[in-house]
Amino acid sequence: MGELPKARIATASLAGCFGCHMALLDIDERLIELLKHVEFDRSPLTDIKRFTRRCDIGIIEGGCCNEENVHVLQDFRRNCDVLIGIGQCAIMGGLPAMRNAIMHSDAPLRECLEEAYINGRYIRNMTHNIPNDPALPLLLDEVYACSEVVEMDFQIPGCAPTGDVIFETLSGLLAGKFRGFERQRIRFD
Ligand code: SF4
Repeated sequence: MGELPKARIATASLAGCFGCHMALLDIDERLIELLKHVEFDRSPLTDIKRFTRRCDIGIIEGGCCNEENVHVLQDFRRNCDVLIGIGQCAIMGGLPAMRNAIMHSDAPLRECLEEAYINGRYIRNMTHNIPNDPALPLLLDEVYACSEVVEMDFQIPGCAPTGDVIFETLSGLLAGKFRGFERQRIRFD
């Protein structure tokens, strides 16, 4: 990688499994080279909870399944020049969006929660209660892709994308030479 401008990067995991953040670490030893050119701000990688200043790049894993996800995503849009969705959950809802297919009742969200906490084949819930603490973020009616909530600038497809693709995307963006992805390099395993 040649001379790159220093950039500030923030990351967040919304309704995802953290697999895409693990894929970020799959950059392996190139992370050392990358860190010469970037600093991480708000991110689970730094444990910084709020933006300390405006960032050049925001990386979002996961879609929006609750109100907190929406607030975090809107905060990233406000505070990042370029916003990137990483992985299928961010791009189209991914696995969490399977609940969007529950449509054969008048209350699909309730049906989904009852299946998860009461009626599911392997559920052992002695109280028969569905968690409902006020501290829990309110669930949305469906799981939404990030691009349905705010404008996204780029998307890195895959589940999870490879460390190579993530590294090349970030390097290309930082160098102003990002050209998109070759289809055969996108991974879903
Ligand atoms: Fe996890 Fe795959 Fe979703 Fe990434 S895209 S958060 S790896 S399920």
